[in-house]
Amino acid sequence: MGLETLKPIPFVDMARLHAPIQDALHTAALRVIDSGRFIGGEDVRGFEREMAATLGTPEVCSASCATLGLFAVLKCMGIGPGDEVITTPHTAIATAEAISLTGAQVVFGDLQPGYFNLDPAQAEARITPRTRAIIPVHLYGQPADMDAFVRLTDKHQLMLIEDCAQAQGARHKGRRVGTIGHAGVYSFFPSKNLGGFGDGGAVVARDPALMKRIRMFCDHGRTSKYMHEFEGVNSRLDTLQAALLRVCLPHLDEWNACRARAARWYDEDLAGIPEVTRPRVLPDTDPVYHVYAIQVPRRDDVQARMKEHGVETGIHYPHALNTLPAYTHLQQGKGSFPNAEQACAHVLSLPMHPSITRDEVKEASERLRAVCASLR
Ligand SMILES: *Cc1c(COP(=O)(O)O)cnc(C)c1O
Repeated sequence: MGLETLKPIPFVDMARLHAPIQDALHTAALRVIDSGRFIGGEDVRGFEREMAATLGTPEVCSASCATLGLFAVLKCMGIGPGDEVITTPHTAIATAEAISLTGAQVVFGDLQPGYFNLDPAQAEARITPRTRAIIPVHLYGQPADMDAFVRLTDKHQLMLIEDCAQAQGARHKGRRVGTIGHAGVYSFFPSKNLGGFGDGGAVVARDPALMKRIRMFCDHGRTSKYMHEFEGVNSRLDTLQAALLRVCLPHLDEWNACRARAARWYDEDLAGIPEVTRPRVLPDTDPVYHVYAIQVPRRDDVQARMKEHGVETGIHYPHALNTLPAYTHLQQGKGSFPNAEQACAHVLSLPMHPSITRDEVKEASERLRAVCASLR
């Protein structure tokens, strides 16, 4: 079969995902438009309540995005200039950005060997008297080694903040990520597992007093209409987003189960391709496969040929944060975090979304097998 006749396999497919709930989405959007109320209101409170119920937490605070949600958490923990916060260099820049925005110093630690998340041992090695918090990221929807992080942050009396932007719904030993540390942050960026229709995010915190402060911080430090107890930011979830997310939220677990099923299909279909390293899952975790990231040699060539074969792939992420111009001031260029750099050079995210079919996974895998053979 000529390449031009191959059926394209998209990386994600929003239209397919939303088709069954299209009417409900339209109804919700029109309800908000017709209400004339676009900030706050019952949809925002209702969404927060419903999300809290899915997490088994008393409260959720919605935010304009995860970046500012993380910033709010750090600020409200009193973290700022002179402090250090440890995180992974293999993440979206938002994680590190939120730390720098407080005036605190970003401190990177390398990845756990064989996995894509921050290594607790590497994090421990980076602790100094200035360290205030650790932010593990549940990258790709794979829970980080939370037992180790809880032990570590207890031992050193540090704050433990979970970046769950890619992992909403994932579990570690039966507990939902975000509810294990002192605080957890979620993103509703459209491509995330609970994607909105624009930007959005949410925060949970174990301490009710901290939660109250975060809620105020995200709304200009406001206690009532023109009364401000401290300066905060404008980081609210739009009413329209909340109303639409209320339609999607009840489907999240089912969507995540579809992702996990697709991951099992890939696991089967990719076995026996010698070039491909499949993602490893930490014991006692239920990942939610925001992406299915394999590792391959000659990754860029593989990606280019996959594109020729009609398979859209992604790279999360091509650069370790420490190697970016934004972090040259840390003076930790190439070579500082070998595991992260090894990951950045070899990861390739295959098509993954809740409505991907058995045939699409099989086809994508067969085309990958052919591409790998052609590059031998
Ligand atoms: C998407 C993402 C963020 C940022 O989320 P926004 O809602 O876009 O601000 C933070 N951390 C990780 C790991 C992400 O994937």
